[in-house]
Parts: sequence; C-alpha cells; structure tokens
Amino acid sequence: MEFVLGTFCRIDLYGSENSQLYDRLFSRLAELERILSANRADSELSALNSTAALRAISVSPELRTVLERALFFAEASGGAFDPTVGPLVQLWGIGEKTPRIPSADEIQAALDMINWRDLELQADGGVFLRRPGMAVDVGAIAKGYAADELVKILREKKVPQALIDLGGNIYVWGAKKDNTPWRIGIQNPLDERGSYVGIVETQSISMVTSGVYERFFIGEDAVRYHHIFALSGTGTDKPGYPVNNGLLSVTVAAPSSMDADALSTTCFALGYEKGCALAEAAGVKAIFIFADKTIRGSAGALDTFTLIDTSFRIE
Ligand code: ADP
Ligand code: MG
Repeated sequence: MEFVLGTFCRIDLYGSENSQLYDRLFSRLAELERILSANRADSELSALNSTAALRAISVSPELRTVLERALFFAEASGGAFDPTVGPLVQLWGIGEKTPRIPSADEIQAALDMINWRDLELQADGGVFLRRPGMAVDVGAIAKGYAADELVKILREKKVPQALIDLGGNIYVWGAKKDNTPWRIGIQNPLDERGSYVGIVETQSISMVTSGVYERFFIGEDAVRYHHIFALSGTGTDKPGYPVNNGLLSVTVAAPSSMDADALSTTCFALGYEKGCALAEAAGVKAIFIFADKTIRGSAGALDTFTLIDTSFRIE
C-alpha cells in the first residue's frame, strides 16, 4: 500500500507477487501523479494551468487522453461534469488543511471562470485555456485512468488475477482461480470505512464510487460540505456549492475505470433520473444510494447486488 494520487493505493496480485512488478506498477502511478495532480506545483497539469489565457502548450499523451475523455463527459452531461472546475475546488479547499465556506461573491467569481468550452484541444496537440484564471482539475477521472494504465501492465505481463484499489476506485482484473465471481462491497456512506451496504458479484470490471463521505468538512453551520460541486442551479442544487440532491453515493461499474470514475461523479452531479439515463446510454451500470436510505439502480445494476445492511431498502 502506498500513498499516491492523493489517496491510499493497494494492489493485490494473488500469487503473482514479485517485487519488480510491484515496483513497475507503483512507479507508473507516481509518474501519473506527476502528470495529473492538481495539488503539486511541479505537475504537468499545474504547468498547463499557469499558461491560462497566455498561450497553448503541448502536453503528454496521458494528459491529452484524460482531457479528451473529460470533455466528452462534460458535453454528455450538459456541463454537470466539468474538468475546468479547478477555481471552485481551490476556493473551498475541501480535503485540504483549511477548508472554508466562501462568500457568495467569491463563488460567483470562481463560477465565472468555469466553462469546459474554453478548454481547447488543438489539432496539433496543443492545449489552450482561453480565459484568465481558468484551472483544470481532473480529480474526478484521474484515478480511473490510472487504474486502466495499471491493467495495461497486468495484461502485458499476463497476470491472471489482481485487485487494484486506488482509494475506493476498484478494478478486479481477470478470473479467480476457482472461477467464482468477484465480490465487491459497496461502502455504507453513513458508516465507518469498510462497512458495506451490500455486495455486488461481478466478473473482471472496474467499480467506482463517488460519495459525500470521501472528502468533506463540517462547517460552523453544522452542515456537511463534500467535494462534488453543482455547477448549475437545478432542483435543490445551488451553483458553486456541493451537490445537494438527496444522494449519498453513486457507484458505477464499467470495463473502463476512467469511464466508471467520470460517470460516478457525473451521475452524482446529475441526480438519479438524468444520471440513470446517461449510464444506460453509456451501457454501464449505476447504483444510487440516497440519504433516506433507499437504493436504486439503472437497468440491470441490482441484478447481482445483495443487500447486507437491512436498514437500507431497495426501491
Ligand atoms: P474521489 O476523488 O473521492 O474519488 P470523485 O471521482 O467523485 O471522487 O471526484 C471528486 C473530485 O472531482 C473533486 O475532488 C474535484 O477535484 C472534482 N470535481 C468536483 N466537482 C466536479 C464537477 N462538477 N465536475 C468535475 N469534477 C468535479
Ligand atoms: Mg469520479
């Protein structure tokens, strides 16, 4: 287990252990952190952000791939998912040492700098942030991309079976020796870590959860402020504030961990109805857990789900 990409990362190789392979996997993670981290001044992402409104820069294929996919989900979600959310993330500082509730003016100023349409991927490989103050943050998709990159190595090394856990961003790779399905627990968002609402039985796949319990702080007003932001004011949501739509978590299962990561955040931000429609259109499964302790799934998502905590109920 190591701390990379802002989280604890665990890789289990079930009998294929060898230190060279572990080193290769963890050095790939460290490499991706140097590219994608929003919290490191020396990352490639920080270099990109420092050029906002000044000039286009050419970026690594890794960053390019992540930005392309992020823009795909930005468009697909009508902007509920937006990789230019950086100014808002920095303003609130949720998960940092001194988070705080910003003033309405500060929030408006941050919102004014956020628009995925001003993140320009140029045909010659350049990336340009069109407006001053813009900042890209790929925290909602980077761990998924990293998990997929690790799976590439596992495939190349013909590792038959592995479990990757990048801070709750799970990839179960390959088939188990006795050919029984993998069993993955879905975190109880109201309870301590490692306590599960239920279990999903699955084949080789990624499962990623976005929830109110991952990174948050309790304000002086006793409200819990978590780290996924509403960018428009639909329903009970206020733009610039943490999403407030009755959801506690969304779990998405997909063969691409990058898609599962982006979609768990996107479905969380969109809420059940729109989120479900997007998951189904993308051909992936999503499980929604609500503050009233109900659980709903997109088409087929609950077929292999077994409830453990019976204080929750399936709708
Ligand atoms: P985790 O980091 O816990 O795995 P997520 O994948 O859901 O959780 O990503 C949350 C992160 O995504 C936030 O910390 C922030 O960096 C970023 N983010 C917050 N709101 C949005 C949004 N509306 N669109 C895109 N990214 C967001
Ligand atoms: Mg995500």
